[in-house]
Parts: sequence; structure tokens; C-alpha cells
Amino acid sequence: MVSVKGLQLTLLVVLLNATAGNAYRWFNWQYEVTCESDGYYAPLTEKGLSAWLKVQYTQGSHIKVVGNGHGFNNLTQCVDTSLSNKTSHIVSMTNFKSLSVNKTAGTVTFGAGWDVFDIINELKAYDLSFDNLGAERVQNFVGAASSGTHGTGAEIQNIASQITGMRVLDAMGQTHIFNDTATPEMMKAFRINLGALGVITEVTVKVQPTILLKKTTKVLNATSNYTEMYSQMSELYKQHDRMTFWGPHFDWNEETKTFDIEPQYYYSYWEPTNYTDVQNCTVNYCSDGCGYCLSEYTCYGETSDAVSDPPQGTCSRNFYAEIEHFFPIKYLTDAAVNYTMFQRSQIPQMTAGYNDVMIFQIRHIRGDDSYMSPLNTYNLPDGESDVFGVIEIDWIQKYNNFTALWQNQDMAFSFLPQFGETYNVTAHWNKMLPPTPQYNLERYPMLPKFLAIQEQMDPKCQFVNTFLYEQLGIERCANYLTM
Ligand SMILES: Cc1cc2nc3c(=O)[nH]c(=O)nc-3n(C[C@H](O)[C@H](O)[C@H](O)COP(=O)(O)OP(=O)(O)OC[C@H]3O[C@@H](n4cnc5c(N)ncnc54)[C@H](O)[C@@H]3O)c2cc1C
Repeated sequence: MVSVKGLQLTLLVVLLNATAGNAYRWFNWQYEVTCESDGYYAPLTEKGLSAWLKVQYTQGSHIKVVGNGHGFNNLTQCVDTSLSNKTSHIVSMTNFKSLSVNKTAGTVTFGAGWDVFDIINELKAYDLSFDNLGAERVQNFVGAASSGTHGTGAEIQNIASQITGMRVLDAMGQTHIFNDTATPEMMKAFRINLGALGVITEVTVKVQPTILLKKTTKVLNATSNYTEMYSQMSELYKQHDRMTFWGPHFDWNEETKTFDIEPQYYYSYWEPTNYTDVQNCTVNYCSDGCGYCLSEYTCYGETSDAVSDPPQGTCSRNFYAEIEHFFPIKYLTDAAVNYTMFQRSQIPQMTAGYNDVMIFQIRHIRGDDSYMSPLNTYNLPDGESDVFGVIEIDWIQKYNNFTALWQNQDMAFSFLPQFGETYNVTAHWNKMLPPTPQYNLERYPMLPKFLAIQEQMDPKCQFVNTFLYEQLGIERCANYLTM
């Protein structure tokens, strides 16, 4: 039991080690995921965070650790104060900016406060870079890893797979240190943790000496003969290791109330190069489908610059709904054809207006052994290739209207029930997946192990929110609002 005096001392330590505030409303990047919390807590030190967690544990408070909220799902939604009598907190690790480079080991150890964009720039000074990233760099590194963020490439895994060690605080404020050598099995649970296992304060990540890439972009003709179009893509995937298709693109036709396919779309592939002259990939991003990208060009750049957008490279931030589904690569043509036809059958339901453009993005990515990775190889039959096909569909609006956004998000939910079983689909954790605990149990064979660790790290379900409860089926937390 904590003495009153002890508690006061603990509170003092907490106050001296944090930037905190009163009632705080949380929003994700496009303002549709929101919640009212009792406070925003940004610890300054691990010791202060630990003391704060100890206090919260005695009270059973709700805690939601957030990165930059750059997702489409309720992963970062706190328990709204209207739903529970317990206090509810948003925790940001933004002040954790330690950095130490071990060139001999080829690793960098850094605090959980680093955003991807900033850590990349810092690493350039050491002539180091990450091997793989998502299409953008606006995320917090730990936030991106924790949800399974990935880029593209048959030999490339998601960015969490680059993490070789970490420090994590559990709900009781105890520090755990995991790494690939001493605790490899725990690393499989913690790399993609969905914010359910505690607060990560620091990660150690594999890096590489700067590698220069040549990015080649080519234009293709689109056709409503989807089988022909997607067969061509599947063939090209056999030729290039690291490739993304930005397309097909469809434009909203206000007169006919449908999407018309654009006549052309484009794809990019990346190859290592010795070319060290002008590094120009950062002057023409196009990797999020904006700007005038429908032209054939080559550019050169350091890996991060060549494969992902810095914040200034994103030209449009209109509301959008998005799905991203993963399945064994052998289904690529068939799945892409059927997703496209199913989407077309949904158009009559898109009545709310404000539609602008719909973009398909097709990638491929290699599987991994993180328990909660959508690309987990535990879920593959023996002998199956561990390369996954990835279909993303973006429904982008011309005006930020919530009714239209919610209608499109509802539609986005319908793809998993339609295709999940057929193509052994998993979905990006932060991109519009319907609540499917039974389905997830089948697709994530390590889910029971993950939940056992979750119970040890968070006995009172303080890190649980509706999303985690509904997706993972955490039955012991059924009463997490009151327990
Ligand atoms: C426009 C756009 C483009 C995108 N492109 C891609 C892409 O190319 N590829 C891709 O895979 N994804 C992509 N995403 C998805 C995005 O990368 C993920 O949603 C990512 O999680 C966002 O990072 P974040 O820092 O905002 O994390 P958040 O959404 O804030 O958090 C993600 C998870 O991490 C947990 N978390 C954060 N910090 C900690 C911590 N210190 N300790 C414990 N848990 C923590 C949170 O609780 C949450 O569960 C895109 C999203 C958008 C909006």
C-alpha cells in the first residue's frame, strides 16, 4: 500500500518530470477520431513516467499513448471522459529525444519522441539511413512501427522488423528491456504492439550505411479490362524487387454520379545505384499520388529520400477513407480484379457527395514473424511464398464533409467480409478494418500469446480502448470502463 506521504512524494516527482495539462481533446490527423481526456501528459524522463504510471495504476486510470495520430482507425482513441468515472489520459513521448549511434553494430538507439522525418535527417549526419519506410515520413517512429507501417519490396519487411531492442514500461511503472539476443520471443510480441503492451520509451534500430537509389517512373495505359491491366502488374512484379503502382486512378463524374477510369497511371521502381551526382528525388515526390506525376522520369536519392515523402511533399490533405489489405502474392491479379469490381458495385451507395478521386495503390512486401504483423508468416500454409500483395484504395474528397467521410468509411468496412476468407486477407491496423475478433484469431495464430503478455503488462486493462477490445477480443477486459 502507498503511504499518503509516499504518494505526495511520487506526485511531486511526476510534476517535476512532465509537461501536463488539464482536460485535453485528442484528434487524429483528419479530425474524425477524437476523444475527451482528463489530461495530456508528456513525460520528460523515464523515471518521471514510471512514477506517474505507479500513481495511475493505483487508480486504474485509462491511458492512451499516442504518436502523431496519422491513421484512419481508432487505435489512438482514448477512453472518453463521458464513458468512465476513472480518469483518462493521453500520453505523448515527444520529449524523449535521446540518440546514440553504434556504427560498428549498425544500430541506432533513440528515444520514443523522434518523428520519422527528424530521425532520418539526424542520421544523414552520420552517413546512415533506414532501409525501408512507409510512403510518408510524418509519423512518430515508434507509432509507425507499433501499427505495422510498411513500404514496398519483395525483400523489404515492415519498418518494425528493423527494431532489435527496446525499453518498455508496464502499467505498474516497471521497466522491461528486450532485445533480439536475450529475449527474441518478446521482441516478436513487442515490435508491433498496437499500443496495448505498455509505453515504449526507447528503441534500437538496424540502420545501413547510406545507400543511393535510382527511382524510375513509367506511365502505363489503363483499361476497363481489369484482368488485362492487373495481369500486366503481376508480370512487372516478377521483374522488379522494389516497386509501387500508383493506379489505376478514377475521377468522380458529377453528371453520371460514377467514377471514370483515367486513361493512364504510373508505377515506380527503385534500384541501387553508384550515381553520386545530383540527388533530385526530393524535388518531385509524387509518392502519395498528388502533383503532376503522370510522366516518365528518373531521379536519384538516398534511400529515405527516394522511397518516401517528407511532410512538404504532401500536396493534399482533404478528407479521405482508405483500406489497405494484405494477401499472399499469388492472389494479386484475381484479388485486384475483384476488389475493383466490388468497389464499382458500391458506387451507387456513395450518395453523400463531395467525391473527387479514387486511387488504387498496389504494392508487395515480405512477411515477418511479429505476432501481430498483418504480414505474419504464421498464418501461411507450408510452402507458400512469404511475399504478400498489398491493395490500398483511397477515396479522396474534394471538400472536408464529415457525412461523406463516414459514408465512405462504412463502405470501406465492407471489403474485409467480402474478400477476407477468399484471399486469406489481413488489414492494416490503422486503416478502416471492421471489428473482427474471431477472424483476427484465425489470421493471427500468435494472438493468444500476445494477449497473455498483454495481461502481464496491463493487468487492469488501462491501455485498452474500444478498438483493442473489439479487434483482439480481450474478454478479460470486457468491463474495462469500470473494472
Ligand atoms: C496519408 C497517410 C499515408 C500513410 N501511408 C502509409 C504507408 O505508406 N504505409 C503504411 O504502412 N502505413 C501508412 N499510413 C499509416 C500510418 O503509417 C500508421 O497509421 C502509423 O501508425 C502512424 O504513425 P503515428 O506516429 O501517427 O502513430 P499513431 O497512429 O499515433 O499510433 C499508432 C499506434 O502506436 C501506439 N504508440 C505510439 N507511440 C507509442 C509508444 N511510445 N509506446 C507504445 N505505443 C505507442 C499507439 O498507441 C497506437 O496504437 C499512412 C497514414 C496516412 C494518414
